[in-house]
Amino acid sequence: MTPATTPSTTSPGTPGAQLGPAAAAPGARGPQSSAPPTRPRRPVTELRELAERGARELGHDAPAQAVARWAVENFPGTLAVACSMADAVLPHVISQEAPGVDVLFLDTGYHFPETLGTRDAVAATMDVNVVDVVPQESVAEQEERLGADLWARDPATCCRLRKVEPLNLALGGYEAWATGVRREEAPTRTATPLVGWDETHQMVKINPLAPWSLEELMSYATEHGVLVNPLVYDGYPSIGCATCTRRVAPGEDPRSGRWAGFSKTECGIHL
Ligand code: SF4
Repeated sequence: MTPATTPSTTSPGTPGAQLGPAAAAPGARGPQSSAPPTRPRRPVTELRELAERGARELGHDAPAQAVARWAVENFPGTLAVACSMADAVLPHVISQEAPGVDVLFLDTGYHFPETLGTRDAVAATMDVNVVDVVPQESVAEQEERLGADLWARDPATCCRLRKVEPLNLALGGYEAWATGVRREEAPTRTATPLVGWDETHQMVKINPLAPWSLEELMSYATEHGVLVNPLVYDGYPSIGCATCTRRVAPGEDPRSGRWAGFSKTECGIHL
């Protein structure tokens, strides 16, 4: 089964765009549509050179706004922003340079109500085009095929089915994607560049917030009145699916609340 690739019928700031086969499931929010890039993808060699040039020009610690400007200038209409809806800082930073930019949200079917509420608020109030990226199967269909609570038995497979593969499909056609990955979040993220080449997706990966601390992130949100998931203020500094995220104590590793009890530390979309 392949995802729909019809143009998005939504306008910036309007919730409802969805990408993926399960978008048409009963109860799905909004029309089944995607938000394809507005111009053809350039050859991989050209994109690689752009990534190398961006890394050279921006260095290791350029301001997020400068990184966003570079991204928008070099990938007009072919840039996607990934957002977990823990906060809307990255969509805000990018949309200052690219109003109406596509913001991809991995709608796994297991999110906290607060996360879905944040997504809806972002779609309703910000000048961005929120696109729900949904898995091939609904939760019910997956449970019928693989049994209940796959996340508790085999989170790697669950993440692959509900996050990694849907994102792989959603990114097809874009030339670059921006993520909110920060170096201080985890040992696996300390070397995150501002701009790099994403071998997995064969596209440019841009991490404007890489040098930021959590304090800088929250200060930006406060200063600019950017939406933050209320769970962040309730002991959840890192937010994933409700089934796989627990509250952490003050001073505890922020990501220790993710997949607690498993050796797993990443869902796989940034590997
Ligand atoms: S975070 Fe948990 S529920 Fe969500 S996709 Fe991964 S394993 Fe499944």
